[in-house]
Amino acid sequence: MPHLHTLAVHAGREDFGQLGVHAPPIDLSTTYPVPDLAAGTASFDALVAGEASAANPIYARLHNPTVARVEGALAQLEGSEACVAFGSGMAALAALLMAVRTDGGHVLVVRPLYGTSDHLLASGMAGLEAEFVDAADIASRIRPTTALVMIETPANPTLDLVDIRAVVAAAGKVPVAVDSTFATPVLQNPIALGATYVLHSATKFLGGHGDVIAGVVCCSEENAKPLRQIRAVTGALLHPLGAYLLHRGLPTLALRVERAQHNAGVLAQRLAEHSAVATVFYPGMGTVANDHLAATQMRGPGALLAFDLHGGHAAASTVMKAVRLLTPAVSLGSVDSLIQHPAGLTHRVLDEATRQATGITAGLLRVSAGIEHVNDLWADLSAALETARG
Ligand SMILES: *Cc1c(COP(=O)(O)O)cnc(C)c1O
Repeated sequence: MPHLHTLAVHAGREDFGQLGVHAPPIDLSTTYPVPDLAAGTASFDALVAGEASAANPIYARLHNPTVARVEGALAQLEGSEACVAFGSGMAALAALLMAVRTDGGHVLVVRPLYGTSDHLLASGMAGLEAEFVDAADIASRIRPTTALVMIETPANPTLDLVDIRAVVAAAGKVPVAVDSTFATPVLQNPIALGATYVLHSATKFLGGHGDVIAGVVCCSEENAKPLRQIRAVTGALLHPLGAYLLHRGLPTLALRVERAQHNAGVLAQRLAEHSAVATVFYPGMGTVANDHLAATQMRGPGALLAFDLHGGHAAASTVMKAVRLLTPAVSLGSVDSLIQHPAGLTHRVLDEATRQATGITAGLLRVSAGIEHVNDLWADLSAALETARG
């Protein structure tokens, strides 16, 4: 098996020699000719049953070769049998919840997690009863109706880490879904640790350039079939142009993550020494839950960090206004650095008590380090912090 760095460059491109091309072909067809009805019916039946492909794609809501190509690449990177791509990370999570849902179904969830994921689960909109628990209490909270255990590690926005192996052991026969968006396959492979489903907002590091919204679920072929069926009936598709852009981001994934991680580490150290900053949350600095997992479960602490300002909300909003090189914006995992205020933006949908309980304070800012030179990032961030000192 080639190294991940090699796979990232070549996965999903295995047939280029045979095709005589050097870039992935983009197939924009919405429908495909069916001159042979019997063969067409067989293809239709296979795709409706959730098969990964068929001789004839029939209709683009059932199958698209450009999307299938990047799915194949991501399955290789994540070490899973299959991968199913959706029109966004939230569409991927919604399909996953629909796939595991049973009558009276219950899901155990460890907080914190991405604000909209939290909202989807807590609101009951997905038709599952969400129970929010400490990872340590999972085994004792499993019910006969528990359909899923859902975790996010590193967690958004506090960077808390969750022990995937321990959660898998506690869940027993119940499937475990890990949102691994912050880690990417470069830093963590939950399938190898026993997870049933790995979820990525591919909008973030996988796409990597802030120009495509996408989501994927990596899992076994058996579990992929119902996800494809749900995608076909709900139409939560990734457009082939989006799939092309996502695939285009993959060859540089490891390079981007490693440089961004280096930058995040330097920024975390410098922020920790800054007098306007109360606490820096970054795996490996002793400030996040299960800190030790950064070096065992993960192959590095990642490119996200958060910090709490002494000056609270006022200081945070001043910093957002004062940055010039970092972009004050939600999202993460792009080549450029982003800074945002979780309590006011990404985690706004949570109630105040939940935000307080999970460490999403008024003075908390989250930085997604990009691949710029770190000295330029620090010059910008430290100048912005000076304005917030008041
Ligand atoms: C952004 C994000 C999502 C949602 O993905 P979209 O592509 O925005 O729908 C889910 N989980 C995490 C951790 C995220 O950062």
